[in-house]
Amino acid sequence: MEKGAEAAEALNVTEIFYNRVADHIRNQPDAARSHAFDKQRMDELIQALDGWDDLDAQERSRRNKEIGNNRAYKMCKKFCVLDIAGERALVDLVHPPGNGPPVPPPISDAVKVCCIEDWFTCIKEVHDACGHIKSRTLEKKMQDKYTRVPRWALELYVDLCPVCVSALPRKVNTAGSQPIVTKGFQRRGQIDLIQSMPDGDYKFLLNYQDHNIWSKFGLISIK
Ligand SMILES: [Zn+2]
Repeated sequence: MEKGAEAAEALNVTEIFYNRVADHIRNQPDAARSHAFDKQRMDELIQALDGWDDLDAQERSRRNKEIGNNRAYKMCKKFCVLDIAGERALVDLVHPPGNGPPVPPPISDAVKVCCIEDWFTCIKEVHDACGHIKSRTLEKKMQDKYTRVPRWALELYVDLCPVCVSALPRKVNTAGSQPIVTKGFQRRGQIDLIQSMPDGDYKFLLNYQDHNIWSKFGLISIK
């Protein structure tokens, strides 16, 4: 494929993916919908939680009021903001061994929140890098790096991946009639009358093919 055509196909696949994502989200219950972060929501939380551990109570309260719904106080128990590859990123806190409160992970193990707008790029990155993996394997690899990408989004992506689609087995064309196979003898059959070299008074061959699962056919001469 030429470069221009390749780029056009990639654009097309991205657009179809996001149309399907939008359809899916529209039909989701609110709880499932709130699990996914759009970019605006993610950026708001990054601003609110950046440097949270070093803030005084007054500043925490100010930031919490700014984003509303007590979200800063709720979300600071789940996420922190780390610098990853030169960008401030919202990252899952991890539970240390024992019963202590969750803590920021080391950068090398950080699992970033992936917002809806980045789903396509991030799924493609992991799916392609790992040799077009799918289902549970893809889900596990994604979870090593990203959070908040639901399984249904991974499935939508794999269904559209041009490489995976072209590798799907094609239905084999079978020539001739395909009999409906039944379980009883003489319940369904097919008769062909064949004109043959005369054998005395017998001028035709009758081929009877019984479409049951045990026997196949009989051949008799008739007048
Ligand atoms: Zn693929």
